[in-house]
Amino acid sequence: MRFSEAFIPTLREVPAEAEVISHRLMLRAGMIRKVAAGIYNYLPLGLRVIQKVSGIIREEMNAAGAQELLMPMVQPRELWDETLRWKEYDKELLRLKDRHERDFCLGPTHEEIITDLVRGEVKSYRQLPMMLYQIQTKFRDEIRPRFGLMRGREFLMKDCYSFDRNEAGAKESYRKMFEAYQKIFRRCGLDFRPIEAGTGLIGGSLSHEFHVLAASGEDEVFACGKCDFGASAEKTPADRNCPKCKAVLNSHRGIEVGQVFYLGTKYSKAMKAGFLDEGGKEQLIEMGCYGIGVGRTAAASIEQNHDDNGIIWPLPIAPFPVEIVTLGQEDAAVREAAGQVIRALEAEKIEFLWDDREESAGVKFKDADLLGIPYRVTIGKKGVQKGESEIRSRKTGTVTAVPLPQTAGDLARLISPK
Ligand code: ATP
Ligand code: MG
Repeated sequence: MRFSEAFIPTLREVPAEAEVISHRLMLRAGMIRKVAAGIYNYLPLGLRVIQKVSGIIREEMNAAGAQELLMPMVQPRELWDETLRWKEYDKELLRLKDRHERDFCLGPTHEEIITDLVRGEVKSYRQLPMMLYQIQTKFRDEIRPRFGLMRGREFLMKDCYSFDRNEAGAKESYRKMFEAYQKIFRRCGLDFRPIEAGTGLIGGSLSHEFHVLAASGEDEVFACGKCDFGASAEKTPADRNCPKCKAVLNSHRGIEVGQVFYLGTKYSKAMKAGFLDEGGKEQLIEMGCYGIGVGRTAAASIEQNHDDNGIIWPLPIAPFPVEIVTLGQEDAAVREAAGQVIRALEAEKIEFLWDDREESAGVKFKDADLLGIPYRVTIGKKGVQKGESEIRSRKTGTVTAVPLPQTAGDLARLISPK
């Protein structure tokens, strides 16, 4: 993609309304723009990151045996009456009426819809277990939307639901999802801890939250520096020693990026979602639900990976792995060298942003640091005279001069080491 033609409106100034680093940097890097409180446009660069995170989630959900579907955002009141949540939810549930004065809400979560779907289709134990998920827009009329995508009102969530024959099966589904979550957040390059958690308005009896450790987090989390143990403030042992490895637990701030719940029969009982077991006896389906905030995960990654100059994307969720910066483009040799590198990158199927704007080196480098693309390739007059390009790692700042014909191959190795 050519920067000169791309819709990447970067900002020099720090927008006043943005309190946390991820919000400031997402605005400055031209990734998001506000429409109303807690409601955002995702610009092309922001959308690319959202798609990378979603792609990782999708791969791990599919690998865990979950199937993707898509449910509606607008949900009829009748289903919410069945679970009593039409009453239980306060103002966070945005309610609306259609032209016939019928009540609807914008889905903050989808237990009602999916339980209704499954009860209509599942009749026999042979159809279970089953896991279904979607990546879809939720609406929660948060009292204090803030921090950009971190606490929006309209936001993208992956929500997965499991349906099992019995408690043992449901616990197995929970375990599978727990493991899938660890893989997802690891692949996103995050430092995180799963912690035991309460169940709130979703309900159920067993739950873990996945917290990314970052200074701007809203919750206190105790984490072991030696192993992967973490606990909430309430569940931390009084002596502050890690129950797994006995090292000391340190207090951190955490951003909740995901949560898994074992629900038991809370929803299947309320909505009469049953099946016939092997003995022909009617049983209630055992359920679990599992959420990940897609935008919040992207924002949490920035909270963990940035410096004074901008974002430092982990490669797997970067909008592009490579940014090419051409300097002195009026020079035919520079244009020729850039063309050569670009054709080789295309042949390697490596995506790149090409900063071909008529701007100074200073402006281009500043924007490159702000956008945080993992590898910057500079093609300039001096280097080209020596037959070289320059590869710079955003994370380490390491600069390597590389013969022009080798540039794409070296990048390919950096991006997917064999
Ligand atoms: P919080 O305690 O932060 O309000 P929650 O516990 O109510 O979140 P869940 O119902 O567990 O949220 O939703 C699953 C995931 O969806 C959360 O772990 C989080 O990543 C994401 N999420 C929830 N609320 C928001 C929001 N307002 N904006 C962005 N992401 C959100
Ligand atoms: Mg939660």
